Amino acid sequence: MESFDCLSALQIATGVAHGEFSAEEVARASLEAIDQRDGDVAAFLQVSYELALSAAKETDRRRAMGEPLGMLAGVPVAFKDNMNVVGTKTTCASRMLEQYESVFTATCVTRLLEAGATPVGKTNMDEFAFGSSTESSAFFCTHNPWDVSRVPGGSSGGSAAAVAAGEVTIALGSDTGGSIRQPASFCGVVGFKPTYGVVSRYGVVAFGSSLDQVGPFGRSVEDVALTMDALVQGGRDPLDSTSQEVEASFLAGLHESCAGMRVGVIPQLIEHKGLSEEVRAGMDVACVALQSQGVEIVEVELPNMAAAMAAYYVIGPCEAFSNLARFDGVRYGCLVPGCASLAEQTARSRAKGFGPEAKRRQMLGAYLLASGVYNTYYYPAQQVRTLITDDYRAAFKRCDAILLPSVPTVAWRFGEVVDPTRMYASDLFTISNNIAGNGGICVPIGLGETTGMPMAAQLQGPAFQDHKLLRIARTLECGVASMGCFEPGTVAPAFVHGGDESL
Ligand code: GLN
Repeated sequence: MESFDCLSALQIATGVAHGEFSAEEVARASLEAIDQRDGDVAAFLQVSYELALSAAKETDRRRAMGEPLGMLAGVPVAFKDNMNVVGTKTTCASRMLEQYESVFTATCVTRLLEAGATPVGKTNMDEFAFGSSTESSAFFCTHNPWDVSRVPGGSSGGSAAAVAAGEVTIALGSDTGGSIRQPASFCGVVGFKPTYGVVSRYGVVAFGSSLDQVGPFGRSVEDVALTMDALVQGGRDPLDSTSQEVEASFLAGLHESCAGMRVGVIPQLIEHKGLSEEVRAGMDVACVALQSQGVEIVEVELPNMAAAMAAYYVIGPCEAFSNLARFDGVRYGCLVPGCASLAEQTARSRAKGFGPEAKRRQMLGAYLLASGVYNTYYYPAQQVRTLITDDYRAAFKRCDAILLPSVPTVAWRFGEVVDPTRMYASDLFTISNNIAGNGGICVPIGLGETTGMPMAAQLQGPAFQDHKLLRIARTLECGVASMGCFEPGTVAPAFVHGGDESL
């Protein structure tokens, strides 16, 4: 009898297809794990027992009738709470949307459901995805399953923690400046931000429309590749004008050798003074792991990377300010009644509904877009964007992917990082990727010497070469495992087999 959290998504889908266990048994095991473990982790804002069981029963019915099953048949998945799912609330972890019931379902969710996945719930996040620790959720903090006194990262912290704690097999998050890759690194799971436009964002509450991208979390690169196949199956989404047609074969070529490929490193980044000693040592492990699989390490440069942070914290808030203008208490959000004028009603409703970080971002955006200020900040930020995109193009002439740290440190303790600008600085290595729009993935490389917390390396690839990027990530994962540093499939030790979830 195997415990549910030991199984990969591929093993679950195959086991369900072959009748080794039913989708309903797997759904009950996942719901049971959530009941047992989420008191400590607090990854979920809502657990959708009925949706989960009815989807699982439908999968079992299809199997019984001999109807075709999808590639994620019976796999329990969680969705970040900025993704609309009919039958759930979509709160974005904000008081503003506390009562908002989804009236339609996001395409990324629909695609996973069409592939037979079992939706078990909606995960906690930083309010409207602003943040790097999930501490700005208006409801409660999520805890890191590796050490519950530490943050899980953010903004998709609930999704990362749910996968790391073995509550679900895969989860979806969104990444505007690192919100999939950073929490994946903190929680010891794989997190992938595909190239901008690969996954539809229709039905996902927007933060920065030129930066946002949806992507999966899993406990192995293989599970992430399988989820990607489900996400792009069906082709481009006509409901998202930025959505592109991509070939749905992430899993097919995944196990091919990457021997002879070249991965670039940027020495100044690995020597960066903000990097903790253990994370720096982890980067050496990542290089050796890749070399052990026949990958050549070459030096490259991204000369304008230092300006990425400044550009992001101009472009991001400007886009957020314009996107979040719709939350005025009339169409969406909490309304403060009895005001003398519309202006007062709007101001008071927004003041009540948004938390401090959401207000800070929007005020910053309003200021930066003001006439007279725009030319000083927004316009140069867009110029920096072009320079960074060109830097990547030049670097990718010399290598197949770039290896970077994911985050300068391991997960910090609650309350340890309170200054917002220090929090912003933790996005140093993830942001340039959103600015340029290409793909990026974080893969666990081991536990820190001093803290014992998970660390990850980040690989970034050229735009629309995500298939190759996943192959290189899988090669890194193999190298790391063969060195005995981290096994794919690992669940945070305190939670492994925590409950009665045997199948
Ligand atoms: N931490 C970054 C921010 O606060 C990124 C957030 C995200 O990717 N949603 O903006």
